[in-house]
Amino acid sequence: MSSLALTNPQHCYHYLMAHRRGLPIEDKLATMLASWIFGIGALPNWLGLDKPRFQWLFKYHFPTSRLLQIPTNRPIDPDRLAEMVDLRELLLDHRSLRSDSEILLADIIVAGCVGQNHLWQDLGLCNRQGVSELMRQNFRTLAEKNDKDMKWKKFLYKQLCEAEGVYTCRVPSCDVCSDYANCYGAET
Ligand code: SF4
Repeated sequence: MSSLALTNPQHCYHYLMAHRRGLPIEDKLATMLASWIFGIGALPNWLGLDKPRFQWLFKYHFPTSRLLQIPTNRPIDPDRLAEMVDLRELLLDHRSLRSDSEILLADIIVAGCVGQNHLWQDLGLCNRQGVSELMRQNFRTLAEKNDKDMKWKKFLYKQLCEAEGVYTCRVPSCDVCSDYANCYGAET
């Protein structure tokens, strides 16, 4: 099958949405795919999956789509693999529907977590709200714990620290912390 040339991320997003299966996850999945294909964000090769799992995800959620131009020049940093395992387990413990797609989505989110920018930027989403929606939809019980709208990377790593009994915060309450803006402020 020949690959399909799309001119920009918006074009790519609308093409994918026209070929979706019809499940809620596909809006954000199409956004992340379109960004990744056009070099936006920090997601590595195959969105952080391996090729067979990427192909399954793509074909399942966009069954009538033609093959897109897939970038393959972004390897995962091997130094980050250990923390990725822990983040993955955290997400998998909270899958909303226990679906196979949520397993793969957990790996995509983890791959975004090891990028250098805000999670929404590294995933190629439009804003923090996009991550919040993705989390509420697919990892609801974990999303509910972030009831003060903490920045998502901060929140996820804080969960890991607390699970290990590691408390790096210098004060007992976020409300009185001088780092408050760093953990909760706007992500622009
Ligand atoms: S605001 Fe302060 S206390 Fe709260 S998570 Fe951030 S560093 Fe820790």
